[in-house]
Amino acid sequence: MKEQARHITTELVHHSYQPPQAFAAPQPAVHKASTVIFDSVQDMRTRRWLDKSGYTYGLHGTPTTYQLEERLCSLEGGKQCLLVPSGLCAISTVALGLLSAGDEVLIPDNAYGPNKDFAEHELARWGIRHAWYNPMDVADLQARISPATKLVWLEAPGSVSMEFPDLIALVQACQARGVTTVLDNTWGAGLAFQPFDLLADGGSLAVDVSAHALTKYPSGGGDVLMGSITTVNQALHMRIKLTHMRLGIGIGANDAEAVLRALPSMALRYHAQDQSARQLAAALQRQSGVVQLLHPAFEGAPGHACWQQLCGAANQGQGAAAGIFSVVIDARFEQAAIDRFCDSLQLFKLGYSWGGPMSLVMPYDIDSMRANGRGCVQAGTVVRFCIGLEDTQDLLQDLAQAWEQAFGQAWQH
Ligand SMILES: *Cc1c(COP(=O)(O)O)cnc(C)c1O
Repeated sequence: MKEQARHITTELVHHSYQPPQAFAAPQPAVHKASTVIFDSVQDMRTRRWLDKSGYTYGLHGTPTTYQLEERLCSLEGGKQCLLVPSGLCAISTVALGLLSAGDEVLIPDNAYGPNKDFAEHELARWGIRHAWYNPMDVADLQARISPATKLVWLEAPGSVSMEFPDLIALVQACQARGVTTVLDNTWGAGLAFQPFDLLADGGSLAVDVSAHALTKYPSGGGDVLMGSITTVNQALHMRIKLTHMRLGIGIGANDAEAVLRALPSMALRYHAQDQSARQLAAALQRQSGVVQLLHPAFEGAPGHACWQQLCGAANQGQGAAAGIFSVVIDARFEQAAIDRFCDSLQLFKLGYSWGGPMSLVMPYDIDSMRANGRGCVQAGTVVRFCIGLEDTQDLLQDLAQAWEQAFGQAWQH
Protein backbone atom coordinates (compact mmCIF):
# COMPACT_ATOMS: atom_id res chain seq x y z
CA MET A 1 0.00 0.00 0.00
CA LYS A 2 1.35 3.40 -0.99
CA GLU A 3 1.60 6.06 1.72
CA GLN A 4 -0.76 8.41 -0.13
CA ALA A 5 -3.50 5.82 -0.15
CA ARG A 6 -3.85 5.97 3.60
CA HIS A 7 -6.50 8.08 5.25
CA ILE A 8 -5.37 11.03 7.33
CA THR A 9 -6.56 9.33 10.54
CA THR A 10 -4.13 6.47 9.86
CA GLU A 11 -1.39 8.78 8.65
CA LEU A 12 -1.52 10.75 11.89
CA VAL A 13 -0.88 7.55 13.84
CA HIS A 14 1.68 5.95 11.50
CA HIS A 15 3.56 8.96 10.14
CA SER A 16 6.71 8.31 8.15
CA TYR A 17 8.69 11.39 9.21
CA GLN A 18 11.69 10.74 11.43
CA PRO A 19 13.49 13.71 12.98
CA PRO A 20 17.26 13.87 12.47
CA GLN A 21 19.30 11.92 15.01
CA ALA A 22 21.92 13.31 17.41
CA PHE A 23 19.78 15.80 19.23
CA ALA A 24 21.55 16.78 22.44
CA ALA A 25 20.36 19.04 25.26
CA PRO A 26 21.11 19.53 28.96
CA GLN A 27 18.03 17.62 30.09
CA PRO A 28 17.12 14.05 29.09
CA ALA A 29 14.12 13.50 26.84
CA VAL A 30 10.72 12.68 28.30
CA HIS A 31 9.56 9.26 27.11
CA LYS A 32 5.89 8.62 27.66
CA ALA A 33 4.43 5.17 27.14
CA SER A 34 2.05 2.55 28.29
CA THR A 35 2.61 0.49 25.11
CA VAL A 36 6.18 -0.17 24.02
CA ILE A 37 6.70 -1.33 20.39
CA PHE A 38 8.67 -4.49 19.58
CA ASP A 39 10.51 -5.01 16.30
CA SER A 40 9.27 -8.59 15.86
CA VAL A 41 7.67 -11.47 17.70
CA GLN A 42 11.16 -12.80 18.34
CA ASP A 43 12.17 -9.44 19.80
CA MET A 44 9.04 -9.43 22.01
CA ARG A 45 9.89 -12.90 23.32
CA THR A 46 13.51 -12.15 24.17
CA ARG A 47 13.43 -8.59 25.47
CA ARG A 48 14.08 -8.32 29.20
CA TRP A 49 12.90 -5.54 31.48
CA LEU A 50 13.80 -7.18 34.80
CA ASP A 51 17.51 -6.54 34.28
CA LYS A 52 16.77 -3.19 32.55
CA SER A 53 18.40 -4.30 29.31
CA GLY A 54 15.22 -3.46 27.38
CA TYR A 55 11.72 -2.04 27.43
CA THR A 56 8.51 -4.05 27.34
CA TYR A 57 5.77 -1.95 28.93
CA GLY A 58 5.48 1.55 30.38
CA LEU A 59 5.03 0.27 33.94
CA HIS A 60 8.30 -1.67 33.63
CA GLY A 61 10.38 1.38 32.79
CA THR A 62 11.26 3.90 30.11
CA PRO A 63 14.53 5.70 29.32
CA THR A 64 13.23 8.57 31.48
CA THR A 65 12.54 6.46 34.57
CA TYR A 66 15.74 4.42 34.14
CA GLN A 67 17.77 7.65 34.06
CA LEU A 68 16.07 9.00 37.15
CA GLU A 69 16.66 5.70 38.97
CA GLU A 70 20.39 5.76 38.11
CA ARG A 71 20.79 9.36 39.30
CA LEU A 72 19.07 8.52 42.57
CA CYS A 73 21.43 5.55 43.00
CA SER A 74 24.32 7.98 42.65
CA LEU A 75 22.74 10.41 45.12
CA GLU A 76 22.27 7.79 47.81
CA GLY A 77 25.22 5.55 47.04
CA GLY A 78 22.94 2.64 46.11
CA LYS A 79 22.99 0.14 43.26
CA GLN A 80 19.30 -0.42 42.43
CA CYS A 81 16.34 1.92 42.62
CA LEU A 82 12.57 1.74 42.20
CA LEU A 83 10.27 4.71 41.65
CA VAL A 84 6.85 4.99 43.27
CA PRO A 85 4.16 7.72 43.21
CA SER A 86 4.80 9.06 46.73
CA GLY A 87 7.10 8.77 49.72
CA LEU A 88 4.36 6.94 51.57
CA CYS A 89 4.10 4.46 48.68
CA ALA A 90 7.84 3.78 49.10
CA ILE A 91 7.12 2.91 52.73
CA SER A 92 4.14 0.65 51.96
CA THR A 93 5.84 -1.08 49.01
CA VAL A 94 8.92 -1.99 51.07
CA ALA A 95 6.67 -3.42 53.79
CA LEU A 96 4.51 -5.40 51.36
CA GLY A 97 7.56 -6.67 49.51
CA LEU A 98 9.46 -7.89 52.55
CA LEU A 99 6.84 -8.95 55.12
CA SER A 100 4.53 -11.97 55.32
CA ALA A 101 1.82 -13.13 57.69
CA GLY A 102 3.30 -13.95 61.09
CA ASP A 103 6.20 -11.49 60.71
CA GLU A 104 6.70 -8.45 62.87
CA VAL A 105 7.96 -4.98 61.93
CA LEU A 106 9.51 -2.57 64.44
CA ILE A 107 8.95 1.14 63.86
CA PRO A 108 10.38 4.04 65.87
CA ASP A 109 7.73 5.78 67.95
CA ASN A 110 8.76 9.12 66.39
CA ALA A 111 8.51 7.83 62.78
CA TYR A 112 6.69 9.64 60.01
CA GLY A 113 3.07 9.22 61.20
CA PRO A 114 1.56 7.55 58.11
CA ASN A 115 4.24 4.80 58.34
CA LYS A 116 2.79 3.89 61.75
CA ASP A 117 -0.77 4.17 60.39
CA PHE A 118 0.09 1.80 57.53
CA ALA A 119 1.34 -0.83 59.98
CA GLU A 120 -1.60 -0.35 62.32
CA HIS A 121 -4.39 -0.35 59.75
CA GLU A 122 -3.10 -2.25 56.70
CA LEU A 123 -0.28 -4.63 57.69
CA ALA A 124 -2.31 -5.78 60.70
CA ARG A 125 -5.08 -6.99 58.35
CA TRP A 126 -2.52 -9.24 56.62
CA GLY A 127 -1.41 -10.83 59.88
CA ILE A 128 1.76 -8.75 60.13
CA ARG A 129 2.38 -7.45 63.64
CA HIS A 130 4.13 -4.22 64.62
CA ALA A 131 5.60 -2.60 67.70
CA TRP A 132 6.95 0.89 68.35
CA TYR A 133 10.47 1.17 69.76
CA ASN A 134 12.30 4.07 71.37
CA PRO A 135 14.92 5.10 68.77
CA MET A 136 16.94 6.97 71.40
CA ASP A 137 17.50 3.75 73.36
CA VAL A 138 19.39 1.02 71.49
CA ALA A 139 18.70 -1.43 74.34
CA ASP A 140 14.96 -0.91 73.85
CA LEU A 141 15.27 -1.95 70.20
CA GLN A 142 17.47 -4.92 71.09
CA ALA A 143 14.93 -6.10 73.66
CA ARG A 144 12.09 -5.94 71.15
CA ILE A 145 13.78 -7.94 68.39
CA SER A 146 12.31 -11.46 68.34
CA PRO A 147 12.55 -14.37 65.87
CA ALA A 148 9.43 -12.92 64.20
CA THR A 149 11.09 -9.53 63.60
CA LYS A 150 11.79 -9.32 59.87
CA LEU A 151 12.07 -5.57 59.32
CA VAL A 152 13.18 -2.57 61.38
CA TRP A 153 12.39 0.98 60.27
CA LEU A 154 14.88 3.75 60.99
CA GLU A 155 14.47 7.49 60.68
CA ALA A 156 17.17 10.08 61.35
CA PRO A 157 16.06 12.39 62.80
CA GLY A 158 12.52 11.53 63.91
CA SER A 159 9.53 13.31 62.45
CA VAL A 160 8.53 16.64 64.05
CA SER A 161 10.42 16.07 67.32
CA MET A 162 13.71 15.78 65.39
CA GLU A 163 15.62 13.58 67.86
CA PHE A 164 18.70 12.21 66.11
CA PRO A 165 19.21 8.52 67.01
CA ASP A 166 22.46 6.57 67.15
CA LEU A 167 21.82 5.21 63.67
CA ILE A 168 25.11 3.30 63.58
CA ALA A 169 24.34 1.43 66.81
CA LEU A 170 20.75 0.74 65.75
CA VAL A 171 21.88 -0.76 62.43
CA GLN A 172 24.56 -2.81 64.18
CA ALA A 173 21.96 -4.13 66.64
CA CYS A 174 19.75 -5.25 63.75
CA GLN A 175 22.61 -6.82 61.82
CA ALA A 176 23.69 -8.77 64.90
CA ARG A 177 20.26 -10.42 64.82
CA GLY A 178 20.07 -10.75 61.03
CA VAL A 179 17.16 -8.31 60.71
CA THR A 180 16.66 -6.26 57.54
CA THR A 181 16.87 -2.49 58.06
CA VAL A 182 15.07 0.18 56.09
CA LEU A 183 15.83 3.85 56.56
CA ASP A 184 13.41 6.65 55.75
CA ASN A 185 16.14 8.81 54.21
CA THR A 186 14.00 11.83 53.33
CA TRP A 187 15.75 14.15 55.81
CA GLY A 188 19.34 13.19 54.94
CA ALA A 189 18.36 12.94 51.27
CA GLY A 190 21.76 11.45 50.34
CA LEU A 191 23.47 14.76 51.21
CA ALA A 192 23.79 14.81 55.02
CA PHE A 193 25.18 11.26 55.27
CA GLN A 194 25.52 8.15 53.17
CA PRO A 195 22.96 5.48 54.13
CA PHE A 196 25.00 2.71 52.50
CA ASP A 197 28.29 3.87 54.02
CA LEU A 198 27.47 4.87 57.59
CA LEU A 199 31.06 4.64 58.84
CA ALA A 200 32.42 6.52 55.79
CA ASP A 201 34.93 3.74 55.21
CA GLY A 202 33.74 2.48 51.87
CA GLY A 203 30.63 0.64 52.96
CA SER A 204 31.36 -1.74 55.85
CA LEU A 205 28.11 -0.65 57.53
CA ALA A 206 24.98 0.05 55.49
CA VAL A 207 21.23 0.03 55.84
CA ASP A 208 19.60 -2.57 53.60
CA VAL A 209 16.98 -0.30 52.06
CA SER A 210 16.61 3.47 51.75
CA ALA A 211 13.11 4.87 51.22
CA HIS A 212 13.09 8.51 50.13
CA ALA A 213 10.20 10.95 49.69
CA LEU A 214 11.40 12.63 46.48
CA THR A 215 8.44 14.94 47.09
CA LYS A 216 10.76 16.92 49.36
CA TYR A 217 14.27 17.98 48.28
CA PRO A 218 14.73 16.07 45.00
CA SER A 219 11.56 17.68 43.63
CA GLY A 220 12.16 20.95 45.42
CA GLY A 221 9.09 22.56 43.96
CA GLY A 222 6.27 21.60 46.28
CA ASP A 223 4.47 20.39 43.16
CA VAL A 224 5.45 16.75 42.64
CA LEU A 225 4.70 13.62 44.66
CA MET A 226 7.18 10.76 44.24
CA GLY A 227 9.18 8.26 46.21
CA SER A 228 12.13 5.93 45.68
CA ILE A 229 13.35 2.64 47.13
CA THR A 230 17.11 2.21 46.88
CA THR A 231 19.17 -0.87 47.74
CA VAL A 232 22.66 -2.30 47.25
CA ASN A 233 21.71 -5.98 47.36
CA GLN A 234 20.35 -7.34 44.08
CA ALA A 235 18.33 -10.16 45.68
CA LEU A 236 16.66 -7.79 48.11
CA HIS A 237 15.95 -5.36 45.28
CA MET A 238 14.33 -8.12 43.24
CA ARG A 239 12.01 -9.11 46.08
CA ILE A 240 10.70 -5.55 46.32
CA LYS A 241 10.74 -5.07 42.54
CA LEU A 242 8.49 -8.06 41.88
CA THR A 243 5.99 -6.86 44.48
CA HIS A 244 6.19 -3.37 42.96
CA MET A 245 5.48 -4.87 39.52
CA ARG A 246 2.58 -7.05 40.70
CA LEU A 247 0.98 -4.14 42.55
CA GLY A 248 1.03 -2.18 39.29
CA ILE A 249 2.96 0.76 40.66
CA GLY A 250 4.19 3.34 38.18
CA ILE A 251 4.95 7.06 37.97
CA GLY A 252 4.15 9.68 35.35
CA ALA A 253 6.84 10.67 32.84
CA ASN A 254 6.20 14.37 33.39
CA ASP A 255 6.75 13.97 37.11
CA ALA A 256 9.98 12.05 36.47
CA GLU A 257 11.08 14.88 34.19
CA ALA A 258 10.31 17.47 36.87
CA VAL A 259 12.53 15.62 39.36
CA LEU A 260 15.29 15.11 36.76
CA ARG A 261 15.24 18.87 36.14
CA ALA A 262 15.44 19.68 39.85
CA LEU A 263 18.21 17.23 40.80
CA PRO A 264 21.16 19.32 39.52
CA SER A 265 20.28 22.16 41.93
CA MET A 266 19.39 19.89 44.84
CA ALA A 267 22.65 20.15 46.79
CA LEU A 268 22.72 23.94 46.42
CA ARG A 269 19.14 24.20 47.65
CA TYR A 270 19.66 21.74 50.50
CA HIS A 271 22.68 23.53 51.92
CA ALA A 272 21.18 27.02 51.41
CA GLN A 273 17.99 25.99 53.18
CA ASP A 274 20.11 24.43 55.94
CA GLN A 275 22.06 27.67 56.50
CA SER A 276 18.91 29.75 56.54
CA ALA A 277 17.15 27.33 58.90
CA ARG A 278 20.05 27.43 61.34
CA GLN A 279 19.95 31.26 61.48
CA LEU A 280 16.21 31.24 62.09
CA ALA A 281 16.46 28.44 64.67
CA ALA A 282 19.15 30.39 66.55
CA ALA A 283 16.93 33.49 66.55
CA LEU A 284 13.96 31.57 67.89
CA GLN A 285 16.16 29.97 70.56
CA ARG A 286 16.91 33.47 71.93
CA GLN A 287 13.24 34.06 72.77
CA SER A 288 12.37 33.42 76.40
CA GLY A 289 9.07 31.83 75.32
CA VAL A 290 10.98 29.08 73.49
CA VAL A 291 11.81 26.37 76.02
CA GLN A 292 13.47 23.92 73.62
CA LEU A 293 14.96 23.94 70.15
CA LEU A 294 14.58 20.65 68.29
CA HIS A 295 17.26 20.86 65.58
CA PRO A 296 19.94 18.16 65.70
CA ALA A 297 22.76 20.48 64.56
CA PHE A 298 22.39 22.54 67.74
CA GLU A 299 24.26 21.74 70.92
CA GLY A 300 21.85 20.51 73.57
CA ALA A 301 19.26 19.28 71.06
CA PRO A 302 18.27 15.62 71.45
CA GLY A 303 20.80 13.43 69.64
CA HIS A 304 23.17 16.27 68.73
CA ALA A 305 26.27 14.11 69.31
CA CYS A 306 24.89 11.42 66.98
CA TRP A 307 24.15 14.03 64.32
CA GLN A 308 27.70 15.35 64.71
CA GLN A 309 29.13 11.86 64.28
CA LEU A 310 27.10 11.02 61.18
CA CYS A 311 26.62 14.39 59.45
CA GLY A 312 29.37 16.58 60.92
CA ALA A 313 31.83 16.05 58.07
CA ALA A 314 29.37 16.82 55.27
CA ASN A 315 29.32 20.09 53.32
CA GLN A 316 33.04 20.79 53.73
CA GLY A 317 32.99 20.11 57.45
CA GLN A 318 30.16 22.52 58.27
CA GLY A 319 27.89 19.55 58.84
CA ALA A 320 24.66 19.14 56.96
CA ALA A 321 21.03 19.14 58.00
CA ALA A 322 17.74 19.58 56.22
CA GLY A 323 16.13 23.02 56.53
CA ILE A 324 13.52 21.85 58.98
CA PHE A 325 13.25 22.15 62.76
CA SER A 326 10.79 22.48 65.61
CA VAL A 327 10.59 24.57 68.76
CA VAL A 328 8.73 23.91 71.99
CA ILE A 329 6.85 27.00 73.09
CA ASP A 330 6.35 27.56 76.80
CA ALA A 331 3.26 25.81 78.21
CA ARG A 332 2.17 29.12 79.77
CA PHE A 333 1.07 30.24 76.29
CA GLU A 334 -2.33 28.85 75.43
CA GLN A 335 -3.05 27.02 72.20
CA ALA A 336 -4.97 30.09 71.02
CA ALA A 337 -1.79 32.19 71.23
CA ILE A 338 0.20 29.52 69.36
CA ASP A 339 -2.48 29.41 66.67
CA ARG A 340 -2.44 33.24 66.50
CA PHE A 341 1.34 33.13 66.00
CA CYS A 342 1.03 30.65 63.11
CA ASP A 343 -1.83 32.64 61.56
CA SER A 344 0.06 35.95 61.92
CA LEU A 345 3.02 34.76 59.87
CA GLN A 346 2.89 36.21 56.37
CA LEU A 347 5.71 34.45 54.50
CA PHE A 348 5.48 31.15 56.36
CA LYS A 349 2.39 29.39 55.05
CA LEU A 350 0.40 26.73 56.86
CA GLY A 351 0.95 23.46 55.05
CA TYR A 352 2.42 19.98 55.17
CA SER A 353 5.52 18.73 53.42
CA TRP A 354 8.90 20.49 53.10
CA GLY A 355 11.91 20.94 50.82
CA GLY A 356 10.07 23.34 48.53
CA PRO A 357 10.63 27.04 47.77
CA MET A 358 8.06 28.32 50.28
CA SER A 359 8.59 28.36 54.03
CA LEU A 360 5.97 26.49 56.03
CA VAL A 361 4.82 26.37 59.64
CA MET A 362 2.66 23.84 61.48
CA PRO A 363 1.66 23.44 65.14
CA TYR A 364 1.59 19.83 66.41
CA ASP A 365 -0.01 18.03 69.32
CA ILE A 366 2.96 15.78 69.99
CA ASP A 367 1.25 13.78 72.76
CA SER A 368 -1.34 12.47 70.31
CA MET A 369 1.44 11.32 67.95
CA ARG A 370 3.47 9.17 70.36
CA ALA A 371 2.44 5.84 71.85
CA ASN A 372 5.18 5.84 74.49
CA GLY A 373 5.18 9.46 75.67
CA ARG A 374 6.99 12.63 74.56
CA GLY A 375 10.48 11.25 75.17
CA CYS A 376 13.05 14.06 74.96
CA VAL A 377 10.46 16.72 74.15
CA GLN A 378 9.93 19.16 77.03
CA ALA A 379 6.53 20.44 78.20
CA GLY A 380 4.90 22.98 75.89
CA THR A 381 3.56 23.19 72.34
CA VAL A 382 5.58 21.98 69.38
CA VAL A 383 5.67 24.19 66.29
CA ARG A 384 7.57 23.01 63.22
CA PHE A 385 9.22 25.27 60.64
CA CYS A 386 10.29 24.22 57.14
CA ILE A 387 12.54 26.77 55.54
CA GLY A 388 12.16 27.62 51.88
CA LEU A 389 14.24 29.76 49.55
CA GLU A 390 13.08 33.21 50.65
CA ASP A 391 15.61 35.75 51.92
CA THR A 392 16.58 34.88 55.50
CA GLN A 393 16.23 38.46 56.76
CA ASP A 394 12.69 38.67 55.43
CA LEU A 395 11.84 35.41 57.19
CA LEU A 396 13.38 36.72 60.45
CA GLN A 397 11.29 39.87 60.27
CA ASP A 398 8.20 37.79 59.66
CA LEU A 399 8.91 35.65 62.74
CA ALA A 400 9.48 38.78 64.85
CA GLN A 401 6.26 40.53 63.87
CA ALA A 402 4.14 37.40 64.34
CA TRP A 403 5.82 36.66 67.68
CA GLU A 404 5.09 40.13 69.07
CA GLN A 405 1.55 40.08 67.77
CA ALA A 406 0.69 36.64 69.17
CA PHE A 407 2.54 36.58 72.49
CA GLY A 408 2.72 40.29 73.39
CA GLN A 409 6.43 39.76 74.05
CA ALA A 410 9.19 41.90 72.54
CA TRP A 411 11.28 39.91 70.01
CA GLN A 412 14.85 39.51 71.23
CA HIS A 413 17.21 40.38 68.36
C1 LIG B 1 6.87 13.55 53.41
C2 LIG B 1 7.47 12.35 54.01
C3 LIG B 1 7.10 11.08 53.61
C4 LIG B 1 6.01 10.82 52.62
O1 LIG B 1 6.16 11.42 51.39
P1 LIG B 1 4.88 11.71 50.47
O2 LIG B 1 5.47 11.86 49.11
O3 LIG B 1 4.24 12.95 51.01
O4 LIG B 1 3.99 10.52 50.58
C5 LIG B 1 7.74 10.01 54.19
N1 LIG B 1 8.69 10.19 55.14
C6 LIG B 1 9.05 11.40 55.55
C7 LIG B 1 10.11 11.52 56.60
C8 LIG B 1 8.46 12.53 55.01
O5 LIG B 1 8.84 13.73 55.43
